[in-house]
Amino acid sequence: MSTTSEPGASPSPKGPADASTASSTPSNFIREIIEEDLRTGRRDRVVTRFPPEPNGYLHIGHAKAICLNFGMAREFGGVCHLRLDDTNPTTEDIEFVEAIQRDVRWLGFDWAEKKFHASDYYEQIYEFTEALILRGKAYVCSLSEEDTRKYRGTISEAGTPSPYRERTVEENLDLLRRMRKGEFPDGAHVVRAKIDMANPNMKLRDPPIVRIRHAHHFRTGDTWCIYPLYDFAHALSDWIEGITHSLCTLEFENNRELYDWFLEALELGNRPKQYEFARLNLTYMLMSKRKLLQLVEKKFVSGWDDPRMWTIAGLRRRGYTPEAVRNLCERVGVAKTNSVVDVALLDHVVREDLSPRSPRVMCVLNPLKVVIESWAEGEVEQLDAPYWPADIGKEGSRKVPLSREIYIERDDFMENPPKDWHRLAPGGEVRLRHGYVIRCTAVEKDETTGEIVALRCTHDPASRGGGGRKVKGTIHWVSVAHAQEVEVRLYDRLFAVEQPGVAEDITTELNSNSLVVVRGRAEPSLAEAKAGEHVQFERLGFFFVDPVDSRDGAPIFNRTVALKDSWSKQSASAGKAATEAATGASSSTATSEKGSKSESKSAEAKAGTPKGTAPKASAELSPEAQAVRDKHGITPEEARILTGDLDLLALFEAAVAAHPSPKGVAKWVVNEVRRELKGGSAKALPFTGAALGELVALVEAGTLSAPLGKEVLAELVREGGSPKAIVDKRGLTQISDSGAVETAVDAVLGENADAVARYRAGNQNVLGALVGLVMKRTGGKANPKLVNELLRKRLDSAG
Ligand code: ATP
Ligand code: MG
Repeated sequence: MSTTSEPGASPSPKGPADASTASSTPSNFIREIIEEDLRTGRRDRVVTRFPPEPNGYLHIGHAKAICLNFGMAREFGGVCHLRLDDTNPTTEDIEFVEAIQRDVRWLGFDWAEKKFHASDYYEQIYEFTEALILRGKAYVCSLSEEDTRKYRGTISEAGTPSPYRERTVEENLDLLRRMRKGEFPDGAHVVRAKIDMANPNMKLRDPPIVRIRHAHHFRTGDTWCIYPLYDFAHALSDWIEGITHSLCTLEFENNRELYDWFLEALELGNRPKQYEFARLNLTYMLMSKRKLLQLVEKKFVSGWDDPRMWTIAGLRRRGYTPEAVRNLCERVGVAKTNSVVDVALLDHVVREDLSPRSPRVMCVLNPLKVVIESWAEGEVEQLDAPYWPADIGKEGSRKVPLSREIYIERDDFMENPPKDWHRLAPGGEVRLRHGYVIRCTAVEKDETTGEIVALRCTHDPASRGGGGRKVKGTIHWVSVAHAQEVEVRLYDRLFAVEQPGVAEDITTELNSNSLVVVRGRAEPSLAEAKAGEHVQFERLGFFFVDPVDSRDGAPIFNRTVALKDSWSKQSASAGKAATEAATGASSSTATSEKGSKSESKSAEAKAGTPKGTAPKASAELSPEAQAVRDKHGITPEEARILTGDLDLLALFEAAVAAHPSPKGVAKWVVNEVRRELKGGSAKALPFTGAALGELVALVEAGTLSAPLGKEVLAELVREGGSPKAIVDKRGLTQISDSGAVETAVDAVLGENADAVARYRAGNQNVLGALVGLVMKRTGGKANPKLVNELLRKRLDSAG
């Protein structure tokens, strides 16, 4: 055996963006943006970054971000920085920094000398904080945490300016400097950006940018007791490093405005731009370091690298390969809508990758003794056994000893078999892999328990190695006298439910059979198996020699993945499940090749193209897509998606006919309608393109807010109908008409004369309450920004 994939092994020279794979690489909207930027000269190079917080190990979701950031840089001859985003001293640790580097390297990527820490920039970030204060764009706020929350308002209610908002520049600077000196306890003050407390985007309501934390930082020690917050540190780190394309996941969409605000407020040139892509989610997994930490801390797993974990370290120890993980990321693609990918796709790419690198060997997991009575006592025949099936096209073989007593898998014998049984049964025949055909002549049972303890068989000397005749089944086996006892760890999914994290108590979602340890009987060649080697136990699955616990001469085998998807079968027939999961034996196939083929086919059929991902296409636009793009002026990505689904295209064209705003309509079709379709066909939608056009028109006219527009779309998808009718029926019209809002404002001011008086006496807090009253009066439909403006105008004009 010669195939190894050790942790930290140098990456294959054939990286994921290798030119030879370019033609089969599906394009994505990020690539298109970069291409366009380079083509138009907007950028002359590509600098990306992967910015993990070192507060845990990386998981397979991060692999997607790694592949994308490093992949784009590599593809366009740019660089990708590794940035440890270490602005939270209490949760971060050097152990995690090291694990992150190990994992990124293992995946096959290299940051050259471009490794940075956000903490490298603390001094610069501090100077930027003073600069913001000097420009009147930041202030020191001394509200308690609770009051800060109250003042923030809600989505439907504007916030209230902090009473500290109007502190003078001198006062702010003095406080900041004293914060830095350590004069105040945690939480006493916080620096906030001075933006807009009424902004509909909550992220812009004077977000905190620097806070006090008297904590020891693993790199800067006790130098600092103030630390920048994520959004501030992130935007500035990107700028300092000269990042061009700052790629992050969709949940940061609302943070983009803030990101831009910082760069604008500080008048920084050559700005990076943020783009958001969908997170990778897989069934049966939780993509959150915090949740993973819980599993580790509560000892549901043996550590971050437990082979049941979907951390990069866990996957590596289980025997997944970097190629398989990268391949998964490539197949999933880069989309703009979140979706959950079936884990069967991961299993599939892993099998695909392991098959040509895993020599076929034999190991019996649940042994049943067979005595071949026609075999001479003491005689041993060394059978020549090729490691590879013919279709892999590799050379190499070993000798496998056959003697009078052998072990076979208990599951490969049935006393009263069904009709289509191809394995051993009383009086029946089966072929021993690489050996002879045997016939079962008698069954030995324990007298008291009735359990089968051994089988008696005879063999056909003329049938060696496929010679002579054909029988239906071939089974694996191991000579008793030569068997090596080895530890085999049979891993299965850690969670029993497809979408874990729903139940309050995580333990109720765990799979109690996620690890079964058995003593296997392996063929002699396996005694020498080395840590980090991949093998296929014929008919059972792909196994990996555990790199942590194996010792020389005592390998431990981790099951990476079974040949068949035993999972779907398990849920179908829960009873049989435990034994099957334990042996991993497939119940109906008797030959490995048959087994692995039918398996991969079904996995492929099941996995297919995951929902919500961009259709496969080359970087070039097809002529149809180009035509749609030219006609409507929409983005290449939109054109590609629309022409990839003719029903969707028809819906789009009809909507544009009703409301000639192709760019707006395209956004709705590509993002919102596709999200609602959940992979289904647009043909089956119960509303017309004209109705969709009407909806987009309502939103664009400001009649309907975008979030309410999405609600209306959801109802259209459920029940059809007309958007206007739904808006009327549910009274969703946003009131942006200042006349109507003014009426409500005046009414509220009239009814609350004492509040007005308090405001004018200097109590700004009252504003929030008044905004709330106006919103209430309009049933939450007033445009909150407008309410704020009008109220302020009225209140500030002399009473
Ligand atoms: P977690 O919730 O697991 O801690 P995170 O986003 O907080 O994840 P970070 O260390 O901040 O973890 O993530 C580093 C980068 O990886 C970020 O750019 C983030 O967007 C990206 N990332 C995290 N999870 C995923 C995922 N599931 N799919 C794709 N990218 C991800
Ligand atoms: Mg994070």
